[in-house]
Amino acid sequence: MSNKQQIVSLVGAGPGDPDLLTLKAYKLIQQADVIVYDRLVSEPILEMIPHGTKKVYVGKASGKHHMNQQEINQTLVNLAKQNHKVVRLKGGDPFIFGRGSEEAQYLIKNNIDFEYVPGITAASACSAYAGIPLTHRGVATSVRLITGHCRADKPLDLNWDSLADENTTLVFYMGLASLPQLREELIKAGLPSDTPAAAIENGTTNKQRRCLSSLNNLPADVKTMSIKSPALIIVGKVVNFAEELDWFTPMAENNVEADQYIAEA
Ligand code: SAH
Repeated sequence: MSNKQQIVSLVGAGPGDPDLLTLKAYKLIQQADVIVYDRLVSEPILEMIPHGTKKVYVGKASGKHHMNQQEINQTLVNLAKQNHKVVRLKGGDPFIFGRGSEEAQYLIKNNIDFEYVPGITAASACSAYAGIPLTHRGVATSVRLITGHCRADKPLDLNWDSLADENTTLVFYMGLASLPQLREELIKAGLPSDTPAAAIENGTTNKQRRCLSSLNNLPADVKTMSIKSPALIIVGKVVNFAEELDWFTPMAENNVEADQYIAEA
């Protein structure tokens, strides 16, 4: 029997740009025996995993689950019990709509130690790379991070009245499918229909696209641009800064090959 410590590191990989990994995440990736990752971990970050490190994909493709959450939890426990140094790598921050806390609870229940490494969450990163400050003096005094995900065939059940505040920036994760409902409910709750609103697709990567619009027009504009997941929805007056503060031009727009981007990472 080895007395090597059994530990799982729950590590945030950030939103896509590999340079947004924390040093701690980078070091853990280099030291891991096995890396359990899912769909939102970007290709350039996967390229950083040393050859010889075991990779286990547990990603979820929209609609059909590759592994359910219980299977993922059990996989982490099994790997740790085999004395592997396990890194559970997740997009963004594992504790923000990432089920990292559920995995941590399961590890505790099974007497496996864990450590947690926060990552840059999509709200921070995508807004930053889209030129949208989440707060701005005199414009937005608070930010709400909200899930737009609803269970199959059920409408989103949120406290719409509390969300309809013109001085609050609303950031919806997983909100693409429920965008028409978001628009309807927020307007019904009193948010002006001309409130600026944006969708950011593949934020921080060389494929980033921004759809800048208004609450009223965002669903139609997103459709016109065929914005696809992963996309973050931001609603609030701060979206008005997006042209003035635009600093990030995705390499894709300059026709730089994606391969080159990966090679540089
Ligand atoms: N734990 C992650 C969120 C997982 S939920 C985090 O902290 O960022 C998945 C949702 O996150 C997606 O549906 C999308 O709304 C958002 N998201 C994550 N990465 C993104 C990216 N690079 N660009 C746009 N949206 C992103």
